Amino acid sequence: MSNFFKKKEEKPKPKVAIHSITGCAGCQLVIYFIRDKLLEILGEIDLVSAPMIKGKNQPGPYDICIVEGMVASEQDLEHLKKWREESKILVAWGTCATHGNVPGIKIFEDDEKVENTVYDNKSNLTGKNKPVKPTPIEQHVKVDFSISGCPPAEIEFMRMMQHFLMGMKPRVYNEPVCVECTLNENLCLLDDGKECLGPMIRGGCNALCPNINHPCTGCHGPLEDANIPQVIKLLERNGISKELIKQRLQKYAGLKFEELGTELR
Ligand code: SF4
Ligand code: SF4
Ligand code: SF4
Repeated sequence: MSNFFKKKEEKPKPKVAIHSITGCAGCQLVIYFIRDKLLEILGEIDLVSAPMIKGKNQPGPYDICIVEGMVASEQDLEHLKKWREESKILVAWGTCATHGNVPGIKIFEDDEKVENTVYDNKSNLTGKNKPVKPTPIEQHVKVDFSISGCPPAEIEFMRMMQHFLMGMKPRVYNEPVCVECTLNENLCLLDDGKECLGPMIRGGCNALCPNINHPCTGCHGPLEDANIPQVIKLLERNGISKELIKQRLQKYAGLKFEELGTELR
C-alpha cells in the first residue's frame, strides 16, 4: 500500500530547560519578555523545565539547559552538577553565570562581615544553605556556551536558539561595544571625558548605553582577548581614574578580576 497519505514523521523537538541558581532572575526575564518571536521559538522546542513560569517541570535528560546565576551555596553546586549530568549542552546565561558579577563582590570583603550585614539570623546558613566562595559556573562544571550580560540582550537568546535549531554551533558575539557603537554612528563619549569602558567590554547589546549617551559600565564583562592594560592607559589619558575603572570591573567581573592583570591592584 502506498505511503502517500502517511503523515510525515516529525523530528522530535529538542528538550530545553531554563534553570537558575544565585542571581536576580533578570536574565530569565529577558527570555520570557521577548516580544515578537518567543511563541515562534517555543513552537520549535519542548520547554520541559522552566520553574519560573511553569508549574510542572521535568527532570533531565535535556538537550539544552540554560543556567542563570552563580554558585554561592552548597545547594547551587548540587543543582548545577545535576543539570550538567543531565544535559547535552549547558549554557552559562548572563554575567552572574559567566563572571560571578554583583553577587561575587562578596569576595572583596570579609565573609563574616558580609554575612552579619545581610542576615539577622545565621542559624539557617547550614547544610544546603551553607555559603561557598562565590564562583562563576565554569569553575565547577564544563560549560558549552557562555553568553554574558547583566542581563544579556534578547537578540543573543534568539541568535543562540536559531543556531541550535539549525544544528549549528552558536556564534557568540565577540567584539567590543565600540564596534556596534560606531556602526550606530554615535559620537564617542570618551571625547567628552566620560568613563566609557566600551573598548574592553564584550558587545552584543547593540551599544545600548552609549546609544542614549550613557557610558558603558561593563555589564557584559571584559572580552577574552581585551588588551586591558592598553585600554586602561587610554581611559586614564581621558582623565578617568584607575579607581573608577577598578570599581566598574569589580562590579561585573569581580571573580575574574585577579586574572585581569596587576594594573588595577
Ligand atoms: S547577570 Fe544580572 S540580570 Fe542576570 S541574574 Fe545576574 S544580576 Fe540578574
Ligand atoms: S562611546 Fe564608548 S562604546 Fe562608543 S566608541 Fe566611545 S568608548 Fe566605544
Ligand atoms: S553598553 Fe555596556 S553596560 Fe550597556 S548594556 Fe552594553 S555592555 Fe552593558
